[in-house]
Amino acid sequence: MKSIISFSQFHFIVPLNVGGTHYTSTLPVLRKYEESMLAAMFSGRHIVVKDKDDRYFIERDGSNFGHILNFLRNSSRLPPPDKVKDVYHEALYYGIKPLADILRRHRSIHEEEEVARWAEQCPAAQEKADEIADLLLNKFADTLRRTSRVVLQFDQEPSWESVHLTGSTGETIGGYYKPYAFQQDEGHKDHKCPQPEISMGEMSEKEREKTLSFIDHHFEKLGYKVEVVAGECREAVWSQKEGSGMDSITIYCTKQIYTLTFT
Ligand SMILES: [Zn+2]
Repeated sequence: MKSIISFSQFHFIVPLNVGGTHYTSTLPVLRKYEESMLAAMFSGRHIVVKDKDDRYFIERDGSNFGHILNFLRNSSRLPPPDKVKDVYHEALYYGIKPLADILRRHRSIHEEEEVARWAEQCPAAQEKADEIADLLLNKFADTLRRTSRVVLQFDQEPSWESVHLTGSTGETIGGYYKPYAFQQDEGHKDHKCPQPEISMGEMSEKEREKTLSFIDHHFEKLGYKVEVVAGECREAVWSQKEGSGMDSITIYCTKQIYTLTFT
């Protein structure tokens, strides 16, 4: 009995239908990388479905298959930078390891994988991103604006800056200086920075950086552009006028906050 599909059934020229997009290639090109899924598909060992026009059918988005074919034809032909991510995923799907290996070194892929790893290592990053997304959707829903801001803060020790003005000129003469009276005063210890809407918990400098980068990538995928600006709380928490010249000392909170602008 003759097998339904056999090696000899493939012609040298192979018409393809990839998810509705038509391509034409040749057997040696499709079989170029032995371990690839395409080589297996056209090895004669598997059953391959055909469409009504006798084209071999691959159930996959066809828009980037041309880049895969170009690489099989000539391994120096790489996709343009804006297609790298999509083609990388196709290369993984088709099992074309040499192409996947080249594209993995591309900055966008490297970043994407780094970011995905971070989401695994630090589940809080994903949780916070979801929290920000919920807040953001509410903010956008309330207005018709195209821009919205979310202020974040990581847990940190209190930090202050003292500004010392002379009564006569109003000039700043003091840098970092905490008056004794301030240190004795309990009031400022309750200071909670008023701007932050989301508390990010305790993270090291490196963890903060990675989490912010994760948020950036995460929201880019959700269709937002994110601009992160680091700043300080700058709330005046204590002040005192002193001396005969009425010098004044004001203590400002200098805890770091991050303002994320989403467009
Ligand atoms: Zn503050």
